[in-house]
Amino acid sequence: MTLLEGRTLFREQLSRLYQTQEIDFYYKFLLEHVLSRNPIQLALNPNERLDKQEISNIKRALNQLIKYTPLQYITGEAFFRDLKLRVSPKVLIPRPETEELVDWILKEYQGLQSKKIRVLDLGTGSGCIAIALAKEQKQFLVSALDIDPEIISLAKENALNNKATIEFRLGDMTQLPSTKEQFDILVSNPPYVMQSEKKQMKTNVLNYEPHQALFVPEDDPLLFYRCILDYAEDHLVLNGSLFFEINPLLVQELNDLIRLYSYRVSERMDIFGKVRMLRLQKI
Ligand code: GLN
Repeated sequence: MTLLEGRTLFREQLSRLYQTQEIDFYYKFLLEHVLSRNPIQLALNPNERLDKQEISNIKRALNQLIKYTPLQYITGEAFFRDLKLRVSPKVLIPRPETEELVDWILKEYQGLQSKKIRVLDLGTGSGCIAIALAKEQKQFLVSALDIDPEIISLAKENALNNKATIEFRLGDMTQLPSTKEQFDILVSNPPYVMQSEKKQMKTNVLNYEPHQALFVPEDDPLLFYRCILDYAEDHLVLNGSLFFEINPLLVQELNDLIRLYSYRVSERMDIFGKVRMLRLQKI
């Protein structure tokens, strides 16, 4: 099979599922990221042959695309701000909305001189938030927690590959131990999708991304926020901030919950114009 024949195969097999432009993009992307070939060769040398192993790898990727596997899980890598991160189906594929949350935090804390700021990222997954914060603001001392040892080791690998220093810890957000530790910032993109939203979700998310990271119990959709707010009572300094990614459908309920504590609240919309982020400053 030649490079060009590979593309023809992709177009034939995927034409009912995706637009031609999208199919061509996938093909080139997979040539580069699964076969480590320069996709320009498709134009320069369309008759170049793929060897046996390459053909089997590209066909495997094609079959995954037919089943709507997200590209990031096929290649095992995702991009977040300027980071390249390894991802597995145990962790969410980092979203652009989450990049905006990081952006907000960095803007609020820019120009720090010598004061160290202690940050804890709860439910770190791939480590995207923690790693970006540690890399982009040298005054941040970042810790990150997740419930699954395999996720922690993936996040550790991502931190190492991106030369970020993070203190990782294994733990359950809903059972955080009480210690003497104090943080200046708690940040989290916890699970927040309700079961009732399943109908509107795309197959590539619903069938492949970890439900543990997406869904909340139907009878207690704010569970994770409440646990973090309780933890913040004793572990967040006065004037410290909580930064949350949130479900736009739960803004009202969240505000009702937050009123039980003592915070100044600001909201931010994502690029799609939905209220997606909150900052709570402890007063
Ligand atoms: N933003 C993700 C989605 O829409 C959900 C992330 C989360 O639950 N924290 O699929």
